[in-house]
Formats: sequence, C-alpha cells, structure tokens
Amino acid sequence: MVIAVAAAATGLGTALTAPATAAGLAPAAVQPEVTRESSAAPQVATAGRRAPSDIGTAAEWNPPAHLVQPLNEVWQHVEQTYPDLYGFRNYGWDQLMANGGGYLNYCVRWESDAPVSAQLRDQVHRVLQEQSDKWYDQLRGFDGFPQARVQINVVGWATANRSTFQWDDNSVDLYIGNPDGGGAPQCAPECGRFFNQNGSYPRCPGGVARHYDQSLWLTDGFGGGAGGDWGQRIGREYFVGAMNQPDIHILLHEIGHTLGLDDFYDWTPTGVPNFLMKAGSASRVTEFDVWMARDFWRHMKDRYNVQVV
Ligand SMILES: [Zn+2]
Repeated sequence: MVIAVAAAATGLGTALTAPATAAGLAPAAVQPEVTRESSAAPQVATAGRRAPSDIGTAAEWNPPAHLVQPLNEVWQHVEQTYPDLYGFRNYGWDQLMANGGGYLNYCVRWESDAPVSAQLRDQVHRVLQEQSDKWYDQLRGFDGFPQARVQINVVGWATANRSTFQWDDNSVDLYIGNPDGGGAPQCAPECGRFFNQNGSYPRCPGGVARHYDQSLWLTDGFGGGAGGDWGQRIGREYFVGAMNQPDIHILLHEIGHTLGLDDFYDWTPTGVPNFLMKAGSASRVTEFDVWMARDFWRHMKDRYNVQVV
C-alpha cells in the first residue's frame, strides 16, 4: 500500500532526517558509519583465498592460529578508536536481536527514475538475501548467535514518482515523494529503526510489523559505497549490473560496517593483507572477515542474554 506521509509528519525535523545521508551522521554513530569508499575494483586477485563455503562454521571462539594475532590487533584498535564502542546500541546485531534474532527488515530507497518491474523488485529482494547470507551463514550458531537463517524482509520501497514502480500489488509499502533533508527518497522515518532506536514505532502506520531496520539505498551515479547502522548505500547501476554476480563486494563491505566492522585505510593487521573490509584488497567475505564479525558478536553478545551452549 502507499503510505502517504504528509509534510507535517516529516516534522521529525532535519536533525533526524539529515543523519540518514552519507555525509552527516549523528555523533552517536560509531566511526564506520561515516565511511565512504572508492569504487576501485579489487586490485588483488582472489586466487588462493578460500571461498566462504570453505571457511567452515564455528560454535565457539577458536580462530586459526595464524589469525589470532591480527584479530587481537583489530579488536585493540577498535577499542582504542571507536568513540562509544560498548555504549552504542544500534549495530546490525542490536537490530537483529530486537527482532528476536530471526530477521531484518529493509526499505529500498530507489534514488533513480529508472523503472522497476515487479520482477526486478523481487530480484532485488532475493539478491539482498543472498548477499546477507554471505555474512550471516557464517555466524549461524556461533557463540549464542541464532541457529536459524537470518531472513531478509523488504517491507517498503521509496522513490520520487509512483510511475517508477511498475506494479500494482500491495506486497510492499510504498513511500512516494518523501525526501530526506538531502532530497533523496526514503521510507517514513517514523518506521525506521535509525529514528526509533528504542524499538517501538508508535507513529509508523503499519506498526512494528512494518518497521524497517536498514535501508538499501541505491543512487544513480553513486560511486563506491557507504554503510552504517542505517543500512548500505551503493550505486544503482552498480547494484543492478552486479545482481548476477556471486559476490557484490561493495554491498558486502558495507554490510560489514552495519555489523560494526571498521575500515583499514591506514593499517594492515599482521599477516593478513587481503580481506573484504580492507577496501580494494578482496572481493568476497574472507575467513578473516568472518572471524572479525564473530569477534564483534563475541564482545557484544552479553547484552542479548543469549544462551551459549
Ligand atoms: Zn568501508
């Protein structure tokens, strides 16, 4: 259905809508949220790196010996540089666990006039699930992380003109002509986790069930990517052109930021030169990336009262 968001309803104000742009995030956001990468293709071939399916699952903290030191270096660096590492409550982990550990809800922000068929709409959803799996499948059952697949729901689409969306069914909520402070289409802030971090959505027309945790923000001509607790932003052309690729590496990298992972622009962990979060050095989620994510979960899990068997 189309949810009309009147101008008055956006009176949450620019102080709330502005942070959703890549350039102006709230100070409370952790460091990665302000990150924007270049779109440079990875310069290092993937030869010799294990595919995610080869990484293997882990139920407890037991990284390979050669990764122990670099993982320690990474966590020490995170502790020293994140302004509010343990106080920040809107990592992707927090969003997932607020949903009972089973799903994440998305809004697709289509910052483009390129038409979207129902087929393309559903393909975007499918691809977003597949790419998310590249991270979450490796976390399944680890140290209290949920055992079930993390389901990606797309609950809303936003764009400037209704005619851009070439479907008539009501499978997703539509947000038309509801720009943020920078003029980009967005789903209603009243339904967004970024704007309602206590997890209740009293002013969202569809209530909690139709809230969105993150946005997949696709912008015409956008180079590189940006990622944070609000979601991921990448070029519309890049994403659509990469949908048939097994690894949409810029999206994967930005999801890494949503999970709290850092960039590595100015240093390299000992002995690990190539991994996804070191932009330009890998084009898929590597074993090291997975262990960094597991480490992040390991340090945050106590806030969720999960059962560790
Ligand atoms: Zn980055």
